[in-house]
Amino acid sequence: MRCPYCQHTESRVLESRSTEGGQSVRRRRECLSCGHRFTTYERIEFVPVTVIKRDGRRESFNRSKLLRGMVRACEKTGITQRRLEVIVDEIEIQLQQKFGREVSSSEIGELVLQYLREESEVAYVRFASVYRKFQGIRDFIETLDDLKSQSSVVEASESVQPNTLGEQETKASIMTPS
Ligand SMILES: [Zn+2]
Repeated sequence: MRCPYCQHTESRVLESRSTEGGQSVRRRRECLSCGHRFTTYERIEFVPVTVIKRDGRRESFNRSKLLRGMVRACEKTGITQRRLEVIVDEIEIQLQQKFGREVSSSEIGELVLQYLREESEVAYVRFASVYRKFQGIRDFIETLDDLKSQSSVVEASESVQPNTLGEQETKASIMTPS
């Protein structure tokens, strides 16, 4: 970091402090050439993620829109807003890391379902009904059956391979397009 007074490139850090609730680090520096002190901030760079919708249109990932949809699905299920915010944080980090710059809306939907399944079956079915756009009672029953068969797969596999098999089976059946 160049000194703003003499342009010298070396400085020493006098103090580092976490700020903005851990989102950034503030450093107090002293120029090794002229001795002036100055402050720098270090932040995580978030890459904007583009969502490709079913109809092919693109829009930027909108975290509050996703949170609103989840809040609606979780009404009266006892899942707190705070918990949903943590889930949205985790989903956002996964989008950043796994998908790069572009992700389809169905990939996001399936991620949300994976989380809601752990939290509440009611919320899972509600979210699935909106996101998979149930056409009728048949779609609804199929989703319930999915839920049931996934639970039994996980339970049945626990005695053999607790983590790997259950996890894979769950993902495979969730990923099947409906
Ligand atoms: Zn300087």
